[in-house]
Amino acid sequence: MKTIKVSVVTPDGPVYDADVEMVSTKAQSGELGILPGHIPLVAPLAIGSVRLKKDGKTELIAVSGGFLEVRPEKVTILAQTAEKAEDIDVERAIRAKERAEQRLHEQHQEHIDFRRAELALQRAVNRLGVSGRNL
Ligand code: ATP
Repeated sequence: MKTIKVSVVTPDGPVYDADVEMVSTKAQSGELGILPGHIPLVAPLAIGSVRLKKDGKTELIAVSGGFLEVRPEKVTILAQTAEKAEDIDVERAIRAKERAEQRLHEQHQEHIDFRRAELALQRAVNRLGVSGRNL
């Protein structure tokens, strides 16, 4: 089976490096699936998961935005934050979700930064989804 190299990197360092059969992720324009031989591409990413198909298994990484770059020999994901499913601290994500929901409920208070709370909620829900805890 043909494979393509994939690196997921964040400002804190590399998170994932492997040869995979397929990469799927959520670009701001919608879902993207990358197979070996895909045309070169740069796309901004949404908060979502990166799914990596390898040896018949699918690994999941939670990312909170960034860029996907597809080159002939390599896919690079430059993410603001990235955690492999097994590295996600579920309790922390639950606390972050509760905090964000609380802020969104207090929307009548002018000092609450609504958009910031929405994004925090999306990150937390995404982490819980990738860790498999909200299924
Ligand atoms: P929190 O309020 O819990 O910090 P957050 O969404 O504001 O959540 P980020 O700013 O997205 O956190 O991430 C800050 C750093 O913490 C990043 O390195 C990210 O990978 C890590 N991180 C955040 N939440 C988790 C989690 N639930 N499990 C593991 N790492 C996490």
